[in-house]
Amino acid sequence: MLFKNEISTEMAEELSRDGDKALKFIADIKWESGFVCRKCGHTNYCDGKSPSSRRCTRCKTEESATAHTLFHNIKFPINKAFFIAYNVCVLNNEFSSYNYSDQLGLNQMTCWKFRKRIQNCMLKIDNKEKVTIQTIMMSDYKS
Ligand SMILES: [Zn+2]
Repeated sequence: MLFKNEISTEMAEELSRDGDKALKFIADIKWESGFVCRKCGHTNYCDGKSPSSRRCTRCKTEESATAHTLFHNIKFPINKAFFIAYNVCVLNNEFSSYNYSDQLGLNQMTCWKFRKRIQNCMLKIDNKEKVTIQTIMMSDYKS
């Protein structure tokens, strides 16, 4: 069950622990209104090689759940990235990158960069009252 506008605390904790579930959560939001291949526009897909990725059945291009989202190309576990995103966006936590680094066992610079990325995505959103974590997670980080 996917919450459209909010994520329960229990669910947030689960997604912060379980990378496969976090990926599925992201994939569900990303392709909520269906899969469209970025390369050829085809809408049929099969499962890709990596968890929750999708592969176009026509041109065989595979797209990961995280491509073109807030989590684009991150090099650390997705559940930890989810944890940071949830804390920054929903709990509005003022944790520093040192806090995240300690708590998650990640490099401090990694945490700093990802936190900065989230903040940049939040800055780009105009209507902040209607914004949900899902919107921020779907920010095309590269654009
Ligand atoms: Zn295609």
